[in-house]
Amino acid sequence: MEKKIKKIGVLTSGGDAPGMNAAIRAVVRTALHHEVEIIGIRKGYNGLINGEIKEMRSRDVSNIMNLGGTILHTARSPEMMTEEGQKKAAAIYSILGLDALVVIGGDGSYRGMRELAKYGVNCFGIPATIDLDMGCTEYTIGFDTAVNTGMDALNKLRDTSSSHERCSVVEVMGRDAGYIAMWCAMTGGAEDVIFPEAKETQDHKKVIQQILTNRSTGKRHNLIVVAEGNGGTQQLAKEIQDITGIQTRATILGHLQRGGTPTATDRMHASLMGYYVVKAIMEGQKNKVVSYNRGRYEIIDLEESFTMKKQLDPEYYDILKVLSI
Ligand code: ATP
Repeated sequence: MEKKIKKIGVLTSGGDAPGMNAAIRAVVRTALHHEVEIIGIRKGYNGLINGEIKEMRSRDVSNIMNLGGTILHTARSPEMMTEEGQKKAAAIYSILGLDALVVIGGDGSYRGMRELAKYGVNCFGIPATIDLDMGCTEYTIGFDTAVNTGMDALNKLRDTSSSHERCSVVEVMGRDAGYIAMWCAMTGGAEDVIFPEAKETQDHKKVIQQILTNRSTGKRHNLIVVAEGNGGTQQLAKEIQDITGIQTRATILGHLQRGGTPTATDRMHASLMGYYVVKAIMEGQKNKVVSYNRGRYEIIDLEESFTMKKQLDPEYYDILKVLSI
């Protein structure tokens, strides 16, 4: 017979993402609904290694749904990258008497779970990163809020660029992936986007030619989006200004995109994913992650999640170019 689940731990790890709090709330309240004790672990894997814990009650997650960031705090933990740190984390898991550990984070955090699973920790993952760069799921918590923040910035830059007939080059986050860049460019009505997955987007000469072509057809301002993974935003702005004579400004949004109140989409995914993960734990499942694929939530083996791949649809770029003439 399966061991009865009595106690679960939850932590947030890696980069913070809006919606993490909604996921914490869902995990805590679903566990309490099943009369399971729930322990909040602070500062990601560091908190597990150092035993920084707090028993969570229903009222501890009141009024957090609307908050960006994470009430449990998060961290990048170099100690967790070592065998010693992993053994320590697994030992604390045992000492605490946990039956499962829920990790809310990105692909690095999932790699951490994979190591802990080797030492007998029963790990469950909820995908949360603004970058959307996880192969096992079509949605990651935080992406929608980050894109909306980027789109809002583009709207504002459009106002000032058009007033001064300038060109704006805007760098958005996304690590080595272009999802945020593509979504910001498409929804902000940018003329061009440079992103890591498509080499053909990275030719500055072509970007500048596009700006000149658009000016010749009556455009009085320009908006270009650059993915963080490509960088070189200041340099591109200088090249545009030097070659075309058009006044050009560079804006790097950076960590602005990490914060802010989560959108309804992020709160919804976070709430449902948190609920489904605890349901899987209560069913006696072992080492799983929750994903959102083809319009449905699914519970997948942690190991299998590392073999899954997805890619930014290359057609999106062609469509953006059609829509920006
Ligand atoms: P984001 O995508 O927002 O950056 P992430 O979860 O990918 O989130 P990382 O910093 O890559 O963020 O990973 C979070 C933590 O997971 C790391 O600080 C480290 O403690 C742990 N981790 C990452 N990779 C491994 C690994 N191979 N083995 C053990 N632990 C790991």
